Amino acid sequence: MVEEQLAARGIGDPAVLRVMGALPRERFLPPEMEENAYDDTALPIGHGQTISQPWIVARMTEVLDLPGWAVRHPGRPVAVLDVGTGSGYQAAVLAAIGARVTSIERDPELAERAARTLASLGLSVRSVVGDGSLGYPPDAPYAGIVVAAAGPAIPPPLVEQLAPGGRLVLPVGPPGYQELTVAWREDGELRTRTLGGCTFVPLVGRHGTDPGREG
Ligand code: SAM
Repeated sequence: MVEEQLAARGIGDPAVLRVMGALPRERFLPPEMEENAYDDTALPIGHGQTISQPWIVARMTEVLDLPGWAVRHPGRPVAVLDVGTGSGYQAAVLAAIGARVTSIERDPELAERAARTLASLGLSVRSVVGDGSLGYPPDAPYAGIVVAAAGPAIPPPLVEQLAPGGRLVLPVGPPGYQELTVAWREDGELRTRTLGGCTFVPLVGRHGTDPGREG
């Protein structure tokens, strides 16, 4: 997976390659999906949700540039918010590269299962159940925010909860096709760059695709 799907397709961050090579991805999947754990695709995890394709997890992690943020802010904790815990795999990658991770999931059963998986691997992640489109102010500001579900626009609370110099990466667009987008603040303005097309499940919540359904 690391050589053929990640390094060969442009993932260069050594920490991302190392932890994704070491983490047992099968532990984040239901038993019937375990044999597909290293496939080059998103996979079902139950409750109509998915674990993201390995390359997407790697790209979203790399683009946060947490090593760069840590160098520019010595001595500060590298706090990261993971919106849409799902299986917990993205949170695990972030924790294993040394971030202080808060992971928020709207589905309580998925959140509980992910928290168990993460604990069983000895990874320290704060698991929260709630509407991640509102962010999670108690642990803000964040050096990085990664959102694994798609909404029509960038949720303003997530921008507000970014630390100076922090980055937010998320899919933006309608159901079925979105642009993977990285956002940051510069000179008081929100700047964005798109990284290519992608398809994620909907971000359900106040600042998501279905504002009527929260949490
Ligand atoms: N990062 C996950 C992983 O590594 O397995 C994949 C996440 S899956 C593609 C998207 C998740 O976002 C789903 O579990 C879904 O329930 C969750 N979700 C959708 N809207 C949400 C919201 N407003 N707040 C928190 N979680 C949300």
